[in-house]
Amino acid sequence: MEHQIPKGTFDILPYGTEELWRLSDLWQTVEEAIRRIATDYNYREIRTPMFESTALFDRGVGETSDIVTKEMFTFQDRGGRSMTLRPEGTSSVMRAFIEHRLFNLGPVHKFFYIGPMFRYERPQSGRYRQHHQFGVEAIGSPHPEQDAEVIELLCQFYTRLGIKNLVVHINTVGDVESRLHFKAALLDYLKPHLPELSTDSQTRFEKNPLRILDSKDPKDREIVKNAPSILNYLTSAARTHFESVCSSLQALNIAFAIDDKIVRGLDYYNKTVFEVITTDLGAQGTIGAGGRFDGLLKTFGGPDLPAVGFATGLERVLQVLIARQISLTKSPRPLVYFIPMGEEAQKECFVLATLCRHAGIATDIRFETKKIQTAILDAVKTGAHYCVILGANELKDNTVLLKNLQTRDQQVIQKDHLLTKLKELTHV
Ligand code: ATP
Ligand code: MG
Repeated sequence: MEHQIPKGTFDILPYGTEELWRLSDLWQTVEEAIRRIATDYNYREIRTPMFESTALFDRGVGETSDIVTKEMFTFQDRGGRSMTLRPEGTSSVMRAFIEHRLFNLGPVHKFFYIGPMFRYERPQSGRYRQHHQFGVEAIGSPHPEQDAEVIELLCQFYTRLGIKNLVVHINTVGDVESRLHFKAALLDYLKPHLPELSTDSQTRFEKNPLRILDSKDPKDREIVKNAPSILNYLTSAARTHFESVCSSLQALNIAFAIDDKIVRGLDYYNKTVFEVITTDLGAQGTIGAGGRFDGLLKTFGGPDLPAVGFATGLERVLQVLIARQISLTKSPRPLVYFIPMGEEAQKECFVLATLCRHAGIATDIRFETKKIQTAILDAVKTGAHYCVILGANELKDNTVLLKNLQTRDQQVIQKDHLLTKLKELTHV
């Protein structure tokens, strides 16, 4: 074949794919659940461009992060500017928030987004070069309850889809002062192990040692096991915040585990960080993740407002649904399928079908005359509940033949009564 889909990307199709999580019906159902839950928690949709100036992500995601050092799709536009396909959503939301001075429009702002993200990764199950995220950001509230609200929202989203038994792993990366103390202790601990660390972690040792805790390298993980815990280096403010988040979660009945190795891949986090983990996806076990990032807006030249959010990968959500055989198929609206026999019937049917569509009845029509049995089989294949047959006899009598394709019952009805009858049958 001459043209093929780029590596690490996939098509979402209405049918014809063996990978069930790529069926567009499923995506629509999940997207509807997202819009519904966002409304229930009063988060409003924000849509930002798919590409931004590269500098935004250098700053927002962090120059030492895996995303910036290895994963970005960066290109020069025809005007010589460096642009990057967005690898994540938060940086763009913060940019838009500042650019449109939304901070003037209220004390607390809650946003959600759904959309594709781009990362140049080694493609494998659950890891793609284009993936989709549902994310939320709550800006303006420093309260630990806000962290809990965001975490609870994410858990409720999974619960509503029928995904149970996920574990929330939560940690705090403290405030600047806590991290300063912790970093010193961590460096002390890691120094003798430096030659055994992965090359990536050796670089991190210089630039961003906390990240070593997050390393996926098995040897690094072994070394890090006995590293000091940030929980012993918290300032009292950071400790109080963390304890309040945990007690709010308890009050909301969210099961969680404290995991002092979580630091998250992005540079901007402070205080709360969390990951929601599943055992259904093999190596790609994190289904959603987030945290608090109080300093980010200021770093971008905006007001010094606190913020907390999460992002969850929709491919991974859908794969868990499939793995757990959770059925999300929505009951489709009954489809009416018009079968004209002959040229004149064709014109007549086209008008009738259009009237049905205007009345909100899902309708399809075949634009050619085929043998009646073949046409009925085609109608069944499209999933139609009813078909309307119009042949020479019906034309003469001003009637149509209405057939229920499931029961095979059929009745002759007056053409003028068809719309009323179909409305009745399809409950419009
Ligand atoms: P990982 O540790 O798996 O690389 P990450 O820390 O890079 O994840 P985030 O930047 O927090 O992930 O992105 C939020 C969510 O988006 C992840 O929890 C995951 O569900 C999803 N995600 C991230 N990268 C990919 C990818 N390449 N393909 C599919 N989903 C992804
Ligand atoms: Mg990653």
